[in-house]
Amino acid sequence: MSQAELHQAIRALYAEVDAAVAQAGPRCDASGRCCRFKEYDHTLFLSNLEAEVLLASAPAYETPVSADFCPFQVDNLCTAREPRPLGCRVYFCDPTYQETSHAITETFLRKLKALADAHGRAWRYAPLHVFLNETQAHAEKEPAPLAPPATAPPARRGRISLL
Ligand code: SF4
Repeated sequence: MSQAELHQAIRALYAEVDAAVAQAGPRCDASGRCCRFKEYDHTLFLSNLEAEVLLASAPAYETPVSADFCPFQVDNLCTAREPRPLGCRVYFCDPTYQETSHAITETFLRKLKALADAHGRAWRYAPLHVFLNETQAHAEKEPAPLAPPATAPPARRGRISLL
C-alpha cells in the first residue's frame, strides 16, 4: 500500500471516529480553550501517522511552535479541521462524556497502531508541537526542488487538461 493509500485508510478511520463521537453526542461549548493547551492545562498527543495526515493538508505555521497552544487555531476556530488528529476529534469537555471519550480513543488508537504494523511503519506517540517543529526543521534541511530546465515543457497541475 502506498503512502497515499495509507493516508486514505487513516481518513476512513477518522470518519468512523466522527460517527462514534456523533452517536455519543457530547456537548461542545465552542470555547476553543481545549486548543489552548497551557490555558487548559493539557497536552495533545498524536502518532506519527496522524501527524503525517495532518501536515499533508494543514495550513502553514510559524516555528518554533510552543507547547502552549495549537498554531492551527485562529479566531477560536480550527483551520485544520478536516485532517485533525484523533485527540482533536474525540476530546470534548462535557463531563458526562469522559468515559465514552476514553473508550473511543482506546479503540481507535489500537486501530491506528494496527494500520502502522500492517504497513511496516514505525509507531511514535508525541506532543503536537514536537512533530510540528521536527517537520519544519526537516523541511529546512531539505534542498529546494531543482527548477526544470528551460527547454522542459511546463508541468501540468490539477486534473484539467486543455489539450
Ligand atoms: S488541530 Fe484544530 S482541533 Fe486540534 S488542537 Fe489544533 S486547532 Fe484545535
